[in-house]
Order: sequence, then structure tokens, then C-alpha cells
Amino acid sequence: MSDCLFCKIIAGDIPSVSVYEDEQIFVFKDINPVAEVHILAVPKKHIKSLDEQTKEDADLLGYMMGKLPELAQSQGLADGFRTIINTGPGGGQEVDHLHIHIMGGSKLPGFT
Ligand code: AMP
Ligand code: ZN
Repeated sequence: MSDCLFCKIIAGDIPSVSVYEDEQIFVFKDINPVAEVHILAVPKKHIKSLDEQTKEDADLLGYMMGKLPELAQSQGLADGFRTIINTGPGGGQEVDHLHIHIMGGSKLPGFT
């Protein structure tokens, strides 16, 4: 999608600090981290949100979930990590390209 911020980041049209990339996903540092480690994993395919997924996306989304421990460990999160997926305005989603927040480290805030 041409006016999507994360599609532009994936394409390299907007700079980011990439930490991992393969054929299906792109992973980069959040520009406004709320924890010592805060990265975002996005599918290269533009999927607006979990609400917009189709049956054809099941393998891709499963692949992303399976990658999370490896991605967290690559950032030094050996003891575990937190994931958040905000969905739609009611879920606080600000960027309309599905993304998984991966967070951890000593500054991980409380979550209540
Ligand atoms: P969400 O509220 O779940 O949609 O989260 C969007 C996230 O994208 C926020 O944590 C922002 O800090 C992050 N973000 C926005 N613009 C950029 C950018 N240019 N590079 C990296 N992260 C960004
Ligand atoms: Zn997009």
C-alpha cells in the first residue's frame, strides 16, 4: 500500500534500524521504545490488522509467531519477552500495518 508507513520502511523509502529480514518478514527497532529492547516485527505483505487477516494469511502469521523467540534472543532477551499486538482504534493501533511489538530488558514497564 503506497501510503503505508511500514510498507515504506520495508521498501527502504523511510529509514529504520533493521535487526532481521527474510522473504516474509521485516523486523526493526521501534522509534519510540518503551523498554530497553523494543522491536517491531511486520509481515512484508500489507495486512492492515488482525481484523483484516484472511485464511491465506494463516501460514504467514504462524511463521511470525514461531520466529518471535529467535528474534527476542537475538536482542539479548534470554529470560523471556513480552509481545503486544494492538488491533484497530479500540486496541490503540496507530499504524495500520499489522505489527508485533517485542519488548524486554531491564526497563520493561509494568502492565496492568
Ligand atoms: P501501534 O500503536 O501498535 O500502532 O504502534 C506503532 C508503533 O510504531 C509505535 O510504538 C511507534 O513508536 C512506532 N513507530 C512509528 N513510526 C515509526 C518509525 N518511523 N520507525 C520505527 N517505529 C515507528
Ligand atoms: Zn503496509
